[in-house]
Amino acid sequence: MPKPTTTTFPLRPGRAEQIFPTLTAAQIARVARHGRTRPVVSGEILFEVGQTVVPFFVITKGQVEIVRPSETNEIVVVVHGPGQFTGEVNMLSGRRSIVRARATVKDMGEVIELDHDSLLSLVQTDSEISEIIMRAFILRRVELIANGISDVILLGSTHCAGTLRIKEFLTANGHPYTSIDLDRDEGVQALLDRFNISAADVPVLICRGEVVLRNPTNREIAECLGFNEGIDQTKIRDVIIVGAGPSGLAAAVYGASEGLDVLVIEMNAPGGQAGSSSKIENYLGFPTGISGQDLASRAYAQAQKFGAQIMIAKGARELTCARRPYTVRIDDDRRVPARSIIIATGAAYRRLDLDNLSQFEGAGVYYGATFVEAQLCRGDEVVVVGGGNSAGQAAVFLAQTARHVHMLVRAKGLAESMSRYLIRRIEDNPAISLRTDTEIAALEGQNQLERVHWRNRQTGEVERRDLKHLFVMTGAAPSTQWLDGCVALDVKGFIKTGPDLTPEDLTTAKWPLTRPPHLLETSLPGVFAVGDVRGGNIKRVASAVGEGSIAVAFVHQVLSE
Ligand SMILES: Cc1cc2nc3c(=O)[nH]c(=O)nc-3n(C[C@H](O)[C@H](O)[C@H](O)COP(=O)(O)OP(=O)(O)OC[C@H]3O[C@@H](n4cnc5c(N)ncnc54)[C@H](O)[C@@H]3O)c2cc1C
Repeated sequence: MPKPTTTTFPLRPGRAEQIFPTLTAAQIARVARHGRTRPVVSGEILFEVGQTVVPFFVITKGQVEIVRPSETNEIVVVVHGPGQFTGEVNMLSGRRSIVRARATVKDMGEVIELDHDSLLSLVQTDSEISEIIMRAFILRRVELIANGISDVILLGSTHCAGTLRIKEFLTANGHPYTSIDLDRDEGVQALLDRFNISAADVPVLICRGEVVLRNPTNREIAECLGFNEGIDQTKIRDVIIVGAGPSGLAAAVYGASEGLDVLVIEMNAPGGQAGSSSKIENYLGFPTGISGQDLASRAYAQAQKFGAQIMIAKGARELTCARRPYTVRIDDDRRVPARSIIIATGAAYRRLDLDNLSQFEGAGVYYGATFVEAQLCRGDEVVVVGGGNSAGQAAVFLAQTARHVHMLVRAKGLAESMSRYLIRRIEDNPAISLRTDTEIAALEGQNQLERVHWRNRQTGEVERRDLKHLFVMTGAAPSTQWLDGCVALDVKGFIKTGPDLTPEDLTTAKWPLTRPPHLLETSLPGVFAVGDVRGGNIKRVASAVGEGSIAVAFVHQVLSE
């Protein structure tokens, strides 16, 4: 039996009541109506590490300890007493548990046990208890991440693109991990020897303490951690939403909360472009701003609370549009059927036209400026390329930790492309220097970016700087390649919807109905496009969220046709 150690949660004062609240007698009675009350004996395991679809327990008599076992010891994360409850946010998705729950009682204890569906029904119907449980679940996950209590060890190096990709993927999926840096941390050799791996294999992911994955793809990580277990891919859904950026997540929240059977298919991780934003300051209701990652993880939990299922690291490859129900072919070649589709695949960054760019992607060239990247370039000089709001935001954010930010724009100024509040912050910040009429001319380096050349487009003069970090924020192209002629696109490749569809578009598409397409409906009946993938979109989180929710209203109409 491993020797237990005490909790590692250094909770701030006042925080404990939110993370580990105690329900009142009246609240416990309401929970009891959704489950069954049963006795527990001392030492009884209520759920185990690695178990999927974990039940939810409210303790009514005795105690339940939550532990994270390892080969040598057992960390006691918390001991729940009467009125307290088990669980964290992965209980909503049915993902594997990373902790064990064990009853510790003198004689006989007692718990109320709810299965996954009963827990969802409770949080969907009782708003007071829902608020307590959802807040505790989310905060518990935050504490697990902050304290590195996890079933994943990442062995990597700061100079390695694969390490950064894996960190970004785990972070965007809200999965806690312990990171060990080959170049900095002690005791690495012992770990390498134990798992029979060499430094040349990095990045290596040790998954659930047993599976060793060498430079795994995001899909392999998702499979090993069981992100998509329990999702039925054969059932005909009311709506499949492709893409889990702000527009797709909004559609999932509204669709599921209004009783639709919703499946979201996401090729990477929830959040989309917004997930790569350090701080969104113009989204209604967040006067002090919110990071894209926080917004996405809240929306993700909210969608799951209402019963939406979200498939991670599975891209849509094809829409089979000849007959209904439509099907979406996903990465592993399975076809998932649905009565209606919402396309929310957004847009992806444009890459710079440089021959050796890919050599430095993730090894000095980045497309997002979040806390993960900010850690990598702390104290260094960085370059940000682009004149839009995303570039402005990145420059202001990075200037807090970098030594200096060089901002390059091809245009003559920022006024045409950036919000006034950001322009002012850039102008007022001595740590940012703006170069207009300027573009990147070349990149140099061995394994890592070492030098950047930029050219003034007016004078042709080239400046060379020893810089190791380049942030590329130069606009985005729509992610519509997978649609292959199923829906009408505009000249730039964005999806045409509603009133933008001309009579010629509808004739070419053989529009079969007497009614015209609904707002946000494409040239294919029952298939909608929302957010940044739609022609004429506004490129804002708020508009993407608005369109995702509006589309759901039309899905109801289409389903009743
Ligand atoms: C760095 C940055 C900062 C920004 N800051 C702000 C801001 O402060 N305020 C503001 O209002 N807006 C901001 N924006 C713009 C805003 O983020 C976007 O308008 C918004 O994210 C669009 O949402 P979306 O859901 O339509 O698309 P996206 O956010 O692009 O999401 C699309 C999702 O679809 C997935 N996907 C793509 N293809 C497939 C496929 N074939 N199969 C499955 N999944 C697929 C992608 O992985 C992605 O998760 C910012 C953008 C960036 C990049």
